[in-house]
Amino acid sequence: MSTAPLKNEPKIDADEVLDGILEWVTIESPTHDATAVNGVVSKVEGQFRDLGLKVDRTPGRDGFGDILECRTPWGGEGPGILVLAHLDTVHPIGTIGRELKIRREGDSVFGPGIYDMKAGGYIAYYALRHLIRQGKKSKLPVTFLFIPEEEVGSPTSRDRIEQAAKGHKYCLVMEPGRDGDRVVTSRKGVGRFVLTVKGKAAHAGAKHEDGRSAVLEMARQIVRIEAMTDYGRGITVNVGLVQGGTGVNVVPAEATAEIDLRVPDAALADEMTATILGLKPIGEDVEVAVEGGMNRPPYRKDAGISALFEKAQAIYREIGKDLKDVPLTGGGSDGNFTAALGIPTLDGLGADGKGAHAAYEQIYYSSLMPRTYLCARLLETLE
Ligand SMILES: [Zn+2]
Repeated sequence: MSTAPLKNEPKIDADEVLDGILEWVTIESPTHDATAVNGVVSKVEGQFRDLGLKVDRTPGRDGFGDILECRTPWGGEGPGILVLAHLDTVHPIGTIGRELKIRREGDSVFGPGIYDMKAGGYIAYYALRHLIRQGKKSKLPVTFLFIPEEEVGSPTSRDRIEQAAKGHKYCLVMEPGRDGDRVVTSRKGVGRFVLTVKGKAAHAGAKHEDGRSAVLEMARQIVRIEAMTDYGRGITVNVGLVQGGTGVNVVPAEATAEIDLRVPDAALADEMTATILGLKPIGEDVEVAVEGGMNRPPYRKDAGISALFEKAQAIYREIGKDLKDVPLTGGGSDGNFTAALGIPTLDGLGADGKGAHAAYEQIYYSSLMPRTYLCARLLETLE
């Protein structure tokens, strides 16, 4: 069967896709600004309503924006395809007028959050619209879930994502694509911990010997924690934030550190969590306390994920392209939640580009057509 479009058949128009993406990018939406995030939520809600989808908008809580769910009116109530995207970005309001002005340089198009991940979210919307324009429907019902706070670990949407995933057969995550026609089929798990050290304050000159420095203890702890990194086993541990002391002439009584852990599988997640929660004092007369745990479970490429990836590869071959996946990536996403529940999950389906979270964030225009085609055909053919 030929896949060449008929003359009067609507085509995926990369310029049209880009224009739509830029409309979303223009509405800046940093995670902690609920009003700003809700601005783009309203835009997306209106667009899906216009397509005839059933829309359910849940008011945000804890200072975050609203969760938006849109479901096709066809396909019944049974398990279908869950499409995940987040509408928040890491870039503060005003970035669009400074370091990330919307602009095109050759194949690269710049803008705040364009790569992570407004392009991906819009591609999913356009893909469905493309099917509808052709008079087609997906075989399965499709639910689009737009998340307001993925960039801080989805604290208010995790339950909703997991509930939704349990009612679906597949999960497509529109996070940024990877270099050279790659998608994501596995991600490390992410743990977050806070270590607090308590010592004893004293005058740094008159009573130095009475003090017990929490900063010194923390320094020793940090050396020990950082040494837990084991690239061979895929474990990284990073002490990313440290605070301590009250004045230069005071032996510090308290210090805190925040720790980021990445692990490739559940066994190592358990092992490393126990190790970090079990940290003991190194010096004398000091106390250490650790709180935290795994924030995102590891996402492993299992048989269901491999089969889904193979379907995506076959679709890419229809347009003469070769789809690959990246080896285990260290970055987490909401795909970790759905994959850990055993739902075949394909991630990194968004536009190709680079510079997520950076001042040179960009997508590649040339990836818009193939990525939109891939998403549209997945929606159309998954059964
Ligand atoms: Zn993202």
